[in-house]
Amino acid sequence: MQDGGVYWGPPEGYDIKEYQLSPSSWNRYEECPRKYWLSRQGLPRKISMPIVIGNAIHNSVEDICNVDVSDRESTEIGWLPKLAKDILSKHWQLQKDIFFETKRHSGWKKNSYNKAREGLDKALFMLLNQVKIIDVELSKVTIDMWKVVKDIILANEGTMNSECGKLMGRLDLLLKDLDESGNEKGWIVVDLKTGRPPKGNLSETVNRQLLFYRDLLILNNPNHPSIRTEGWYTSNKKMYEATGSSVTEDAMNAWQSIELTDNPFQATPHEFICGFCEWKAWCPKWLVAIHDDTLKKHKRFNDEVVTLINFDAEEGLASFKIMIPDGIDGELIDSEKSFGAFFGKSTFKSIKRATNFRI
Ligand code: SF4
Repeated sequence: MQDGGVYWGPPEGYDIKEYQLSPSSWNRYEECPRKYWLSRQGLPRKISMPIVIGNAIHNSVEDICNVDVSDRESTEIGWLPKLAKDILSKHWQLQKDIFFETKRHSGWKKNSYNKAREGLDKALFMLLNQVKIIDVELSKVTIDMWKVVKDIILANEGTMNSECGKLMGRLDLLLKDLDESGNEKGWIVVDLKTGRPPKGNLSETVNRQLLFYRDLLILNNPNHPSIRTEGWYTSNKKMYEATGSSVTEDAMNAWQSIELTDNPFQATPHEFICGFCEWKAWCPKWLVAIHDDTLKKHKRFNDEVVTLINFDAEEGLASFKIMIPDGIDGELIDSEKSFGAFFGKSTFKSIKRATNFRI
């Protein structure tokens, strides 16, 4: 695929290996090979508000950048906030639908819409700043100003595959890098980040992610101009440049390790990684690791496997017996320990729904 003079590699579905390495699959594999293996088993995914906010912002930026303004009055103002609001509302609704269709989801937070609105506005300000349009309210942005922004966008939301089909990355934005006189001197790969910004430099994993995109671009475009790579954090409107040598060789080596086998990959339980692992429900190893003292119980997370002994559906009271591992392969037995619980409204509803089937 050719876009803005940039070659994106073979399109998806053509000459692509059965499994590909992306920055996120690479990170996941390194965090815990079992976590990566489980993520490729078609298990139900989990969705939470940060994902909703991030997707709504990314998709809205993409749509706004794609709006054709060529026929509009050059001095028109007031159009950008309205366009941004309409597009964000559409994507917010789409994300909300996906959220409730996804069985594993956290609680819906209505107020998060304001966060998404704020994040989108900040992303637009960052694009304007990139072409030196600074300190202008969105309501005062003219069509002509926006055309300057559009002119530096070589691509937005592009999927890039290596010719060998092993590597894959999704670039948020590819921009022209301009010199002081406004002439193109190279390219900037931009990854929009809607989460918490780094305290100092980019974390190692984010830095590698950005270098991965840069190197994939280089692989596909041997005659490329100079390329910079930046993470744009919308929450503080700061751009962080990724630095470092090529990660392509390491990525190719990592690709060889991620070929799926019928046997689950090795699990490497770790306090922080297990604490946030969305595949924990299918992994017996973290519980074994707690009981053999590899992980500290009740430090970062308090998950237990329990048997429900009694449930009072009128009062929301229940008693449980804690289960413990029986061997190392996922078998469980009841322990002697039990505890009681009183459920709040939403947990009560979920337990009630579940126990209708089980008791
Ligand atoms: S729960 Fe821990 S050990 Fe199990 S897959 Fe997740 S990260 Fe790996």
